[in-house]
Amino acid sequence: MKSKREGNTRFRLVLTLGLAVVFPAMTLIYINFQHVKSIQRDKNVEALIHRDFQYVVSTSANRISLKAFELAEQARDAYPPDADSEEQKRQEFSDLLAKGPWFAHVFLFDSKNGVIVEQQPDDTDERQIELNKMYGAWLNIDGPFLVEQMRKKTKPIVWFAGEASEPTGLVFRTTAIFLLPQTSKERTVLGGVSFDPAYLKGTFFPQLLTEFTSQRFNEEQGHRSAQMLHELTPQESYEYPDKRLAMMIFPADTLRAEFDRPIATSSGWGNGEPEVFHKFDDPFRGLALGIKFQGTTAEAISRRWVWQSFLILGVLSVMLIGGLVLTYRSVNKQVELARLKSDFVSNVSHELRTPLALIRLYAETLELGRITTQQKKDEYYSIIRKESERLTALINNILDFSRIEAGRKEYDFRETDIAELVRNTLDSYRYQIQQQGFAFEEQIESSIPAVRVDREAIARALVNLVNNALKYSANEKFLGVRLYREESVLKLEVSDRGIGIERDEQARIFEKFYRTCDPLVHNTKGSGLGLSLVRHITQAHGGDVEVESTPGRGSKFTMSLPLAESGNP
Ligand code: ADP
Repeated sequence: MKSKREGNTRFRLVLTLGLAVVFPAMTLIYINFQHVKSIQRDKNVEALIHRDFQYVVSTSANRISLKAFELAEQARDAYPPDADSEEQKRQEFSDLLAKGPWFAHVFLFDSKNGVIVEQQPDDTDERQIELNKMYGAWLNIDGPFLVEQMRKKTKPIVWFAGEASEPTGLVFRTTAIFLLPQTSKERTVLGGVSFDPAYLKGTFFPQLLTEFTSQRFNEEQGHRSAQMLHELTPQESYEYPDKRLAMMIFPADTLRAEFDRPIATSSGWGNGEPEVFHKFDDPFRGLALGIKFQGTTAEAISRRWVWQSFLILGVLSVMLIGGLVLTYRSVNKQVELARLKSDFVSNVSHELRTPLALIRLYAETLELGRITTQQKKDEYYSIIRKESERLTALINNILDFSRIEAGRKEYDFRETDIAELVRNTLDSYRYQIQQQGFAFEEQIESSIPAVRVDREAIARALVNLVNNALKYSANEKFLGVRLYREESVLKLEVSDRGIGIERDEQARIFEKFYRTCDPLVHNTKGSGLGLSLVRHITQAHGGDVEVESTPGRGSKFTMSLPLAESGNP
């Protein structure tokens, strides 16, 4: 019977479990779920990646510009001194062009001496004449103004950049004009270098872009982002997957960004548009540097991250529910076991007390000497003997059980004539069986070979089965014991026509302390250990015990013991 106390214990345990584990865990999961949802809604992951992209792209663009500045400054520092003759100057310019293949031409404007333009050797004379004219006309007018402007700057260089139409198509050209040190202040003297569009496009940009993108994203910037994201989602840790970057340089001014007309790309750009871009300042004003991942997008990464987070939360929830169910079941089992144990204690004390009281009563009566007839005396002696036998059986059961529980039970297997063992064990019960009004049917096959068994244990198992048959028979009192051989299995069968056992309880009766709910069982003393011992004993002999039973019609317990080929188990 399930008591109220038991219900309370279970309720308290479940409540504790709920308050201490499930509620906080569920809350955490829920908060995280909402958090991931808000990250998904606000596109936080993409925003963070784009913020990083912005950082990468602007620092990279600055590095590219700086490189061009350096080259221009190097050229300026190599300019021939004022005192050199034109011939010498031309010679030095040629050297400079030879050392700096990135320049298309260099020039020197002097308001007093005119313009000297020197080009790479493969350029045409017409172009040289054209350039000469162009610089002469332009700088004669704008030169003084440029000089004035440059004197105010920390870096005395001005850049003129833009796309120009050439027979081969549109090309991007950038030219640096600088002040030359150590020139007289009365004259306007300016130097300049113009970058070779083909060199920029074919070598300068691609090399730098490939250098910038050869690192994996998360080596440098990824950690920053992961940290930032970490601040956002304290419970989640997130690393960018190992993604490679790709960069592209393309024409972009205030009005347009021409993604489809790349000037240069890093390896692995593939096609598509940059996710983020940064417009260059001098010296590459008019161009922009764009960035994206190779083979994926920030959106795809974000989608995957969100999906993974939901999946983890889902798995956690399922695990939590699974854990809860398991814990609940194990709590139930423990509560049930505790109940069985307490029933056991009360049953056993009861069972100990009854025979002890009887023994004492009859012994005292005999002691008083009031009993005169021998027949009465014999009856009393027999009662005392039987009750002490009952006590011994019970105590043996308990001792065996505790040995089994402690794993200390040892069996003493000996060659045995099992038919005789069964007959002898039944002999000591025959009287009791008949006294209780039982019809007793005994079928023992005589041709059974000797087997190796623990005699005491087998006898105890049989006694337990017989006792149960006697205890749990109400109307029809019948006890049948059969010992027979079925091929290589020895069967010991104990049957009754008693109260029987419900189907769903049939497996459980072999568990320790378990007793069925039948009212007759409730009113009969018992420890709930007998059948668990029977099972243990048969299993130790390499066999098993089974029950067939119909409630109200009776039960049949069959112990099967294997006969080894040699005749022994
Ligand atoms: P006990 O008899 O001391 O209660 P057992 O382990 O021998 O413990 O039996 C466990 C339970 O199995 C019994 O309480 C009873 O409910 C049921 N049972 C055992 N044998 C029979 C039987 N022959 N007929 C009906 N019920 C039985």
